[in-house]
Amino acid sequence: MAGGVTGWDLYSTLVLQASYVDYYRTQPPLACPNDGEPLRLGPPNQPGVWFCPYDGWSYPQDWDPEIHSGM
Ligand SMILES: [Zn+2]
Repeated sequence: MAGGVTGWDLYSTLVLQASYVDYYRTQPPLACPNDGEPLRLGPPNQPGVWFCPYDGWSYPQDWDPEIHSGM
């Protein structure tokens, strides 16, 4: 047994994704919509800014409710 996705892992992932979808509708994102990387809090001089270290996606400047809230 080296890694591998169990049924429980898959179920947990689906539940997690479902909770993200609900969360997206009312709250700022927790993870990058492009790659799922958890967003990092921006620099102190930019309060309220969250960004993805992978592709530079940032909230709220790249956040588009028209696109992301209807998942
Ligand atoms: Zn990203």
